[in-house]
Amino acid sequence: MSETFSSRPVRVAVVGAGPAGVYASDILAKAQKKHDLRFSIDLFDRYPAPFGLIRYGVAPDHPRIKGIIKALHKVMDRGDIRLLGNVDIGTDLSIEDLRSHYDAVIFATGAIKDADLNIPGVELEGSYGAADFVSWYDGHPDYPRDWPLEAEQIAVIGNGNVALDVARVLSKHAEDLLTTEIPDNVYRELEKSPVSDVHVFGRRGPAQVKFTPLELRELSHSRDVDIVLDEEDFDFDEASDEAIKSNNQIKTMVNTLTNWLIEQEERTEEASRRLHLHFLHQPVEILEGKNEDGSGTGKVAGIRFERMELDGTGNVKGTGEYLDYEVQAVYRAIGYFGSEVSGIPFDDKRGVILNEAGRVLDEEGRHIPGTYATGWIKRGPVGLIGHTKGDAMETIDCLISDIENLPEAESPDEQAIVDLLESRGVEYTTWEGWLKLDEHELQLGQKATASGSVERERVKVVPREDMVQISRA
Ligand code: NAP
Repeated sequence: MSETFSSRPVRVAVVGAGPAGVYASDILAKAQKKHDLRFSIDLFDRYPAPFGLIRYGVAPDHPRIKGIIKALHKVMDRGDIRLLGNVDIGTDLSIEDLRSHYDAVIFATGAIKDADLNIPGVELEGSYGAADFVSWYDGHPDYPRDWPLEAEQIAVIGNGNVALDVARVLSKHAEDLLTTEIPDNVYRELEKSPVSDVHVFGRRGPAQVKFTPLELRELSHSRDVDIVLDEEDFDFDEASDEAIKSNNQIKTMVNTLTNWLIEQEERTEEASRRLHLHFLHQPVEILEGKNEDGSGTGKVAGIRFERMELDGTGNVKGTGEYLDYEVQAVYRAIGYFGSEVSGIPFDDKRGVILNEAGRVLDEEGRHIPGTYATGWIKRGPVGLIGHTKGDAMETIDCLISDIENLPEAESPDEQAIVDLLESRGVEYTTWEGWLKLDEHELQLGQKATASGSVERERVKVVPREDMVQISRA
């Protein structure tokens, strides 16, 4: 071992306190004994509260996710990872600041932006990215407090779990979400929503969906919402038959969908809201409304699709037939996209930091010493939360095998970075601060329960200033 690291701990900064960052920090902390090393870990986040996409990306009616929060909470409660929240890397601290204070930096900044959908009309008022909507209903500190929910008919584009989350939240009756931790402003807006029909559109067939079985089945649990399917969409080519035979998840989901198709024929009572699932619809244009004089309103009035057919391989080809739907809002749930960290090489086609197995590479493909990536910013926005653990293990293995060649920090003292933040007037938050905010939100939940008719465990605090103030009190 290098002389330096036998006399002091290896200083590591992990940027992003979502699951990827907490898992990486945890694996690093646990590796100390096995490798006879000492690590001193600082976990940064640009938000005042930790947990990233678990707090700001998971639908509020998915309480089982709380199990993951509990596990992450336990890791942080151990006390061997220092949280420094409300610190934006790129604004409050530069990459050079990190390099001078740490021997290694791991980026776990995730992917929170919407992927682009390049069709005409995407810029119209009423066309929204799903990631933005999710951030709003999850009370993200940087999003506006109001959201225009004025549409009766809504299109959701995409056949992944985010499309399901968005469609479920849009179609549910607001009072059925009141038991969750949605912020008050979200409840009030949802309560006023005049929505009657939410249409979810997939460009491929029922055997090519990216949903997962549990999440799909959950659609049918919404009270007073009918699921509506079209028999014409249930077309299966050779590749679909093969997928149904060989993949249990696909088989289960196709069964679920086919059962719903049968059940809708036997339905005797009609719900006040409908959730339509359409397949083989490729979006080609978001249509603008027209004023009486023929000029455009600038607002969404409909959406045009090309009818697709399966080509035998599980992919689709156009039929030349076009279908228009009258909708007043379009939500694009076609995947997330990572954001660039200034000064770190970025693959702007895939939306990931350039890396090999978690080692960050320069434009010539050489490892930038002491620089690593993990989670969605390493491999792209696919997979469930648990998958980021495997990612983190691979990245930490790389870091540990590089230990002799880490570029040593100039100011490795743990107090030095705190002094720097204070000298710049950065109102950083800590794990102790989060415990205060956590307690505060739980108390708000108790108060709401006492004054209302439903039980609320937690009510999230927004905006950012309030979060910071409560955390730093
Ligand atoms: P996703 O699973 O990758 O789904 C994206 C969907 O958008 C696919 O159906 C894709 O169709 C479609 N799409 C992409 N480009 C399109 C285009 N130009 N036009 C029309 N459709 C297009 O992404 P996601 O829904 O954002 O989810 C990201 C990850 O988070 C996934 O792993 C998901 O399971 C996970 N997640 C899990 C939960 C949960 O509750 N467990 C909740 C949310 C998210 P093609 O298949 O044809 O490309």
